[in-house]
Amino acid sequence: MANSGSPSGALTRRVCPSCSTAVTRILYRVPSIPIHSCILLDTAEAARALTRRDLELACCDSCGFVFNHIFDEAVMRYSTNFEESQHFSGIFNAFARQLAREAAEKCAIAGKHVIEIGCGKGEFLRELCDVDGATGLGIDPGYRADEGRLTPSDKVRFITDLFSEKYEHLEADVIVCRHTLEHIAPVRSFVGSIRRMIGERDDAAVFFETPDAKRVLAEGAFWDIYYEHCSYFSPGAHARLFRQEGFDVTELRLAYDDQYIIQYANPVSRHSPPRLALEQDLAELQCLAANFPERVRQVQDGWRKRVRSAWKCGQRIVLWGGGSKGVSFLTTLGLTEEIAAVVDVNPFKQGKFMPGTGHPVIAPKALIDQPADLVIVMNPIYVPEIELSLKETGLRPEIVALSPMGFT
Ligand SMILES: [Zn+2]
Repeated sequence: MANSGSPSGALTRRVCPSCSTAVTRILYRVPSIPIHSCILLDTAEAARALTRRDLELACCDSCGFVFNHIFDEAVMRYSTNFEESQHFSGIFNAFARQLAREAAEKCAIAGKHVIEIGCGKGEFLRELCDVDGATGLGIDPGYRADEGRLTPSDKVRFITDLFSEKYEHLEADVIVCRHTLEHIAPVRSFVGSIRRMIGERDDAAVFFETPDAKRVLAEGAFWDIYYEHCSYFSPGAHARLFRQEGFDVTELRLAYDDQYIIQYANPVSRHSPPRLALEQDLAELQCLAANFPERVRQVQDGWRKRVRSAWKCGQRIVLWGGGSKGVSFLTTLGLTEEIAAVVDVNPFKQGKFMPGTGHPVIAPKALIDQPADLVIVMNPIYVPEIELSLKETGLRPEIVALSPMGFT
């Protein structure tokens, strides 16, 4: 059954987790979605039996922060059985390497100690510390030392745990946090903990990378909305939270095809006023929020029609990308037998099953024996890489990437 994108209409008076103002605007609702989209499931049955919850996004008109106001933190069980790593893609690797070099230079990392909060499997931290001979400590509940993934190093250590106030005593010259803040519900106390960890020192540097929610709102990109992401920031909302919690934001920009916010900040003892171009986005964000319900409905209807008409014509349809976007695309649209399989280049995902729907995850070479007529690519940035990969195997399916184009 297809899910509805309409909010429930029940306006629960909520307090914004970022700025503490009362929030009443509800943007979007998706009922009964799997609570994890990066977990690996060994059978289709286990994948379909995964716990589900509803998601309902609220938007703060005061600071522009968007959040799942019915997010159930207690149900989230972070474990090491996750496969969120994007480091099997050449394009992503090149981006991460370049970003590590940039962060190492901007935060003057040589000889310093770096803490990465939400370090995943530690690839970026290793890259960062390799660049300039720094030392690192990674904290992540999903950290797992897989053989063959990284060579051991005495420069970088890891703590397999969630970051919380119990780590405020740790000392760091540089704090890095990539693709983590969107998983945190109490964002204000999280950023506050980092500020308290820095304490009195004024020479620390903070580097954050977080998905940009403005693009999601503008494009009606429902595939970028899923249960683990309980917090959604525009560049301005991101910077407003940091300024409020005692940082001066020194650089704010978009990267990776404008999908990610890159933010550099330093601790300050008094409030620093907004001064960067991307910070002035509140009016624009309010407009995007007002238009989002209709926008997302159009985009969802467009994709449902596209998939169902190809399927009715007997086409074999596969998704390319077994990550969260793929899980959200399948579960939000209520797709089952229309999609034959999900292709993923990450060998740790192949042979497993998609959370929620139980679609099998296969290697690209599996398409040689069972060719696809239509490949739906979950992230447009990977299209050149995928075209090349298919060309090498002599396959010529139609390739379309997730984008709002054609459904406006
Ligand atoms: Zn707010």
